[in-house]
Amino acid sequence: MAEIAFRNVGKRYGGTVALSDASFTIHDNEFFCFFGPPLSGKSTILRLILGLEMPDHGEILIGGKPVNAVSPAERNVAMVFQNLALFPHMSARDNIRFPLAERKVPQAEIERKLADVTAKLHIGHILHKQPAQLSGGERQRVAIARALVRDPVAYLMDDPISALDARLREETRVELKRIQRELGKTLIYVTHDQEEAMSVADRMAILEAGVIRQVGAPLEIYDHPASTYVARLLGSPMMNILPSTASGRDIRVADGAIAVEGLAGVAEIAEVGVRPEDIKVSAWTQGQSGTPSRVYEVEPLGGYTVVTVDAGPSRVRALMRGQPDIRPETMVALSCDAAAVHLFSRNGTALSR
Ligand code: ADP
Ligand code: MG
Repeated sequence: MAEIAFRNVGKRYGGTVALSDASFTIHDNEFFCFFGPPLSGKSTILRLILGLEMPDHGEILIGGKPVNAVSPAERNVAMVFQNLALFPHMSARDNIRFPLAERKVPQAEIERKLADVTAKLHIGHILHKQPAQLSGGERQRVAIARALVRDPVAYLMDDPISALDARLREETRVELKRIQRELGKTLIYVTHDQEEAMSVADRMAILEAGVIRQVGAPLEIYDHPASTYVARLLGSPMMNILPSTASGRDIRVADGAIAVEGLAGVAEIAEVGVRPEDIKVSAWTQGQSGTPSRVYEVEPLGGYTVVTVDAGPSRVRALMRGQPDIRPETMVALSCDAAAVHLFSRNGTALSR
């Protein structure tokens, strides 16, 4: 059992609240992401798990046991460092073997684990090289391999692939996800990239300025964001957040520019959220009922097209499949199914209906 839990953990640096009353449980064998903008407290959480920082208050538990007073070495959680802190005078092979050799693991077992991890990370052909002879991506893989050969309770990674170029990043995250599934180990992962978080996480926690705003499976959060803050962070293009008013038993979205049939009014409503993929765009024909809107710009991306439209007081983005015949400055009609609309109050919290 290697569940990792925080119970009302807080951490300040001088006047800065780095983490405020955080409570969460990371399950055994889970790929768990902390996701949030820079300075939101992600690295602080990892340092608290590692034992490099002490919480000001609250309790940290590993496998059900409080570890506040347990030293980093005894916690047996392995950090995969972002800046690839490999020993420069050692080959990739010796770097990977190091944590095991240091613990006097028998030679045969070291070789077996080395072969296992090099196969998983596809780095057999670079084992003889020194760190200086490796590319950035290769160094990253060697650093990951070195953490993998230990047998820790959990692996921690702090934005491990942000230094890679976009193509290698896509490849590496798939590999990480696959490695985690094969190893069946808890992986705690920090990223500031929403697509990366969505792609790899079994569950994730979303941070805002030291506060955990929502915890859940990526699609659960995507479909049911608890606030406009969370709603805006996940998805690209991001969710349209539009001013709305309850008008009789109906809701008027963006001054009526987006037609939504049968959306029942909620008194506290201030804004609605509509994902770009949920907005339907059709050419406007003279004499049609409803409200026409002017197309502001069109981005053809091949497989799909982003259409930006001036809808009443708002600028709305719609994501359309393929290459629709819609041009800038033409008039269109916008609509959306009631089921796809998210309701938010004045302070940005989600409202149920
Ligand atoms: P993230 O990893 O999400 O970028 P951090 O956990 O590094 O965020 O930082 C959270 C907040 O705590 C920030 O406001 C940061 O400036 C502050 N902070 C982090 N570490 C220190 C430190 N050693 N001394 C002072 N302030 C710190
Ligand atoms: Mg950080």
